[in-house]
Amino acid sequence: MGADLHEVTAVRLGESGGRYTRQRRHLVEILERAGMPLAIPDILRGRRNLAQSSVYRNLAALERAGVVRRVPADEGFGRYELTEDLTEHHHHLICSSCGRVQDVEVPEDLEREVDRTLDRLARRAGFASVAHRLDLIGRCGRCATRGTAARA
Ligand SMILES: [Zn+2]
Ligand SMILES: [Zn+2]
Repeated sequence: MGADLHEVTAVRLGESGGRYTRQRRHLVEILERAGMPLAIPDILRGRRNLAQSSVYRNLAALERAGVVRRVPADEGFGRYELTEDLTEHHHHLICSSCGRVQDVEVPEDLEREVDRTLDRLARRAGFASVAHRLDLIGRCGRCATRGTAARA
C-alpha cells in the first residue's frame, strides 16, 4: 500500500474531523510493518517516545476514521490492525490461554466456498451482500505444550 496508505489515512481522518499527526502516522507505520494485530503493550515495547494514554487516544481516533480496527482477543487487551480494505482479507487464530493473535490464510477455494455458504445464510435472513469476519479460537502451540508439561 505504501504512500497510498498514508494518503487514504489522512483523508479518512479529515472526514472524521481529525488530523494525521506525526504520532498517528507512526502508529500506522508500526501496524503496517507488524503485519499482525498488536496489543498496546506490544506497540509501546521499546518505544520510550510513546505514552500509553496518547497511543490509546490515537488508536481510538484511527478506529473512528476506519483506518484501524480492534480485534477482540479473548480477554485482557484487544489488539489493533489496519482495516481489511487497506490490507487484505484474512482471518485470525486467537489463543484463548495467552491471548496471542496471528493471521491465518485460508486457501482461495475454501474462501470462495465460505463466501457462498455465508451468502446463502445471510440472504435467507434478508441480508444483501455480506462480508465475513472469522476468527479461530484455541490454544497456541506454546500454551498447549506448557499444558502438557504441567500435567506430566
Ligand atoms: Zn497461547
Ligand atoms: Zn474469509
